[in-house]
Amino acid sequence: MNFQMPTRIVFTSGAIASLKAVIHDDLKAKKPFLVTDKGMIQTGLIEKINDQVGSLEVFDDVEPNPRSTTVNRAGEHVRKIQPDLIIALGGGSAMDAAKAVALLATNDGKIEDYEGKEKYEAAPLPVIAIPTTCGTGSEVTWVSVITDTERKFKMSIKGIEMFPSVALVDPDLLMTLPGPVVASTGLDALTHAIEAYTSKPASPITDLFALKAIKLIFNSLETAFRNIESEKEARENLMLGSTMAGVAFGNSDVGAVHCISESIGALFDIPHGVANALFLPYVMQFNVPACTERFADIAAAAGIDEKSSQADADRLIEKIKSLSHVLGIPLFKELGINKDQFAKIAEYSFKNNSNPSNPRDTSVEDYLNILETAYTD
Ligand code: NAD
Repeated sequence: MNFQMPTRIVFTSGAIASLKAVIHDDLKAKKPFLVTDKGMIQTGLIEKINDQVGSLEVFDDVEPNPRSTTVNRAGEHVRKIQPDLIIALGGGSAMDAAKAVALLATNDGKIEDYEGKEKYEAAPLPVIAIPTTCGTGSEVTWVSVITDTERKFKMSIKGIEMFPSVALVDPDLLMTLPGPVVASTGLDALTHAIEAYTSKPASPITDLFALKAIKLIFNSLETAFRNIESEKEARENLMLGSTMAGVAFGNSDVGAVHCISESIGALFDIPHGVANALFLPYVMQFNVPACTERFADIAAAAGIDEKSSQADADRLIEKIKSLSHVLGIPLFKELGINKDQFAKIAEYSFKNNSNPSNPRDTSVEDYLNILETAYTD
């Protein structure tokens, strides 16, 4: 077992008010650089941060499923202006791009050169990660997921120095999040927790984080989806569940759901959370024979108590399907992906680094069957 969590987590409603102190007093930084996306400008948050911190240099071109070309452009810019700290503001896309920019600030070349584990020579700049969605947990993980635009492949760049120095987690930042993004990112967090609990590298420590995250998310997601602005407790619990799920999968792993969603995200630019939500119940159905008892534990955390572990697992899968439906997650066949693409998706999924972590060995043929079942259900 190997558990690491070097990121300091500051979690409270209103935490954003302490940003200036974290920058100057805790991290002793003098020249921070903000990496974010255009959606954040509309929330008015950047203006508020500027009022607090003084005028910041901002890169706001990050797109969903952030691209290597964009990250490389930001990297060239930071090498010229030489900041001493990167602030990551946004969902997983902005946070992952920011982590990659922090690496390029201190290392030559392009982000593609750093795919894999600890390929960099110099430690990246410190990062303060401020999540504004309730899904990825990137604020507490050591990985940056960037789409290699040439290979149409989501690559992982990871290393112990890639953990953000500080995760400033403020559930109030979710108040502007549109309902569909609450739904998809909340289900993304649930997927992280479930895969962390059932994947082969799970440990007693990651189990604690994963099961607590599952409870928090199941008890808050629907309420937060209906009215994230007024439902303070649900908002806080959902955000906490998301960060705790990040700690869990960051030290355990994800499994076949992510193998499929990362392939689909890179090939067709489908939002990460939507892809995870779509495939979660079908991968669970496939995985039940390998870890029925673990699914029964998850069912108990979700308030399910049937007569046998198998019945618990079946009921859990039904519950997740109906939750996705209530939250307005589209069906796989509604995404406009042609069936003749299934072979490529299955092949990419099989090659994904997390495939060996899935609790049940999963072949290309198995991925094809999962895709087919999800499409026809
Ligand atoms: P996202 O970052 O792509 O954001 C989705 C949209 O929501 C954007 O348009 C953004 O502007 C908008 N948005 C974000 N916060 C908002 C707010 N508070 N108010 C209004 N609008 C807001 O979505 P995501 O699901 O958070 O991130 C997905 C990315 O994260 C994928 O690329 C995925 O691969 C990656 N990911 C990384 C890790 C990791 O550990 N590094 C883990 C899981 C996923």
